[in-house]
Amino acid sequence: MSDATLLYEGKAKRIYATDRPGILRCQYKDDATAFNAQKKGQIAGKGEVNCTVAALLFRYLEGAGIATHFVGQTGSTEMAVRAVTILPVEVVVRNRAAGTLCKRLGLERGKAIAPPLVEFFYKNDDLGDPLLTTDHIELLNLATPEQVQVLRQQALAIDTLLQQFFLQCQLELIDFKLEFGTDANGDILLADEISPDTCRLWNLADERVLDKDLFRFDLGDPVAGYREVLERVQAVAGELGQ
Ligand code: UDP
Repeated sequence: MSDATLLYEGKAKRIYATDRPGILRCQYKDDATAFNAQKKGQIAGKGEVNCTVAALLFRYLEGAGIATHFVGQTGSTEMAVRAVTILPVEVVVRNRAAGTLCKRLGLERGKAIAPPLVEFFYKNDDLGDPLLTTDHIELLNLATPEQVQVLRQQALAIDTLLQQFFLQCQLELIDFKLEFGTDANGDILLADEISPDTCRLWNLADERVLDKDLFRFDLGDPVAGYREVLERVQAVAGELGQ
């Protein structure tokens, strides 16, 4: 298949075929959506910021022993990734209460959560990505119990590593969403992206929001927030020799 063959277009990324077996090209878009695409817009430069932040974080996690789909950044908004079959289970890890958790359980925004909470959501836009128990995952045959164990372990290990990284950026990792996929051998790899679109990041000094909540709730300029995250992530990755 030629390099131009579009295999999949999602809300924030496009996936293209490549001439390299088992390798795909992932292009990050400036399009922004929230609340299951009920709110739509553009964040200028988001594709570049998210691609670069994700590339640096994937490289950092790979260096710490986490298996990811990341191969290399191939352009300002593009990276090469290993082809995987995405598991239809989104894994959310929470270190402080925010977003839907506050709505669902009545927790005060910002309340510390220790040990971190792992939640699973069904990746299904038509159903509005509902919360899943492990019994639901089994009922729907979305992943095996062994795979669910791996997802939980990997998500918690990634949380520890990302919290350490972001603290050096003077950022607090409030919560984040991960997606995983299986490769041709059946191994589970971290996939999708890690960026200000998929993480809540608050400025350490004053809890200023620097993530997609700027767009979701019109809290401020998302372009400026995302750029600030990128600059800090680049500086720390540089210090770590990446
Ligand atoms: N998240 C995401 N994609 C989704 C849903 C959530 O990246 O489709 C991220 C979100 O940015 C936050 C975390 O997962 O960092 C937890 O989100 P929550 O369940 O609170 O939902 P939200 O308030 O984002 O709708």
